[in-house]
Amino acid sequence: MIAQHYKDMLGAKSVIRQISEWSTARGAEIGYENVFDYSLGNPSVPAPQKFTDVCLDLLEHVDPVTLHGYTPTLTLPDVRAKVAESLNRRFGMDYTGDHIFMTTGAAGALAHAVRCIAVPGQNIVTFAPFFPEYKPYVEGAGLTLRVAPPRCEDFQINFAALDGLMDENTAAVLINSPNNPSGTAYSAETLTQLADYLKKKSTEYGHHIFLISDEPYREIAFGGKTIPYPAKFYDDTLTCYSFSKSLSVPGERIGYVAANPRCEDAAYIVPMCGQISRGTGHNCPSGLFQRAVAECLEETSDLSVYETNMELIYDELKALGFTVCKPDGTFYIFPKALEEDAKSFCQKAMKYDLALVPGDSFGCPGYFRMAYCIETEKVRRSFVALEKFVSTEYGATKQH
Ligand code: PLP
Repeated sequence: MIAQHYKDMLGAKSVIRQISEWSTARGAEIGYENVFDYSLGNPSVPAPQKFTDVCLDLLEHVDPVTLHGYTPTLTLPDVRAKVAESLNRRFGMDYTGDHIFMTTGAAGALAHAVRCIAVPGQNIVTFAPFFPEYKPYVEGAGLTLRVAPPRCEDFQINFAALDGLMDENTAAVLINSPNNPSGTAYSAETLTQLADYLKKKSTEYGHHIFLISDEPYREIAFGGKTIPYPAKFYDDTLTCYSFSKSLSVPGERIGYVAANPRCEDAAYIVPMCGQISRGTGHNCPSGLFQRAVAECLEETSDLSVYETNMELIYDELKALGFTVCKPDGTFYIFPKALEEDAKSFCQKAMKYDLALVPGDSFGCPGYFRMAYCIETEKVRRSFVALEKFVSTEYGATKQH
């Protein structure tokens, strides 16, 4: 008998994918250069040359039996030690290699993190707007995802809503800073308040409530700002990282879990990840890419295009009268739609060859996401379509 649960999931196709498929189909009709596709969060800049050089060097100079061989269950020790050193240097932490576990991207990191700190039947709380894949990540581990409604004025944490969702069965709070889709990074004040709150609740419930910090956009920070590192604020933190966006290598599936050395049972987290891998059939990311990222830990692609695009789009949206928070990082922006129903808003945008994603699937109806990981020239050209869309459909006029 097939597993009905997964068959049922087929009916709930990702809205982002559907809109992206529409863009591709429309592109086949009118030329993809004429479709303003703001749907997918796929990096638009190449991996840094150093990454390519390191891969070539590994392929040429490392014994192929070793290079392509199985890596240890807990992933490569020298790679883990290098990740720890880099995090310590950059964020004032005190990880050792024993606290690092290499994974297949942030998705793999989250799959391990939730299984490390929760048992089926427990719940994990996150905050809208949130990355829709959190639902399958969390539910796939037999847990329930609870979503606190957004604080739309600045997309920081809505603490009153969080308090209403926590109970004895809460294993963890899951955050994403800077955030997909809002681009907002949690401030030091927010993280301090969150840490104080979680300490209080851990005492009240008599068990450690973990913080799972999903950080695939950590390196895409705007205005020269430093994004506060959540694990620095709260001991019981598992940090989930991906090189997908910083090095533009999402297809290579490489990231890690870092367990704060002061979290509950810190010495067991990574060995437990090894056991979780066995149970989920994860069994280590590619040995080539574990080694390659270890040589590129403080490298990034040229990420400047994302900030250039953000500034242009933010100014344009403001001039057109949109309510919008200026992103601190990522390659997303999350404005308020010009009608209550963001699905209808995004549907109408398609008439102007604009692919925008309604906020409903991010738990934030009434808003929409633009993924501006596209060429700046296309961003500029899209403004003609955007202006025509909002003036024709909503009578909005541009303020110069
Ligand atoms: N978390 C967030 C917020 C994301 O946006 C993504 C991917 O877009 C992921 C996790 C998954 O990252 P990866 O593809 O590296 O596994």
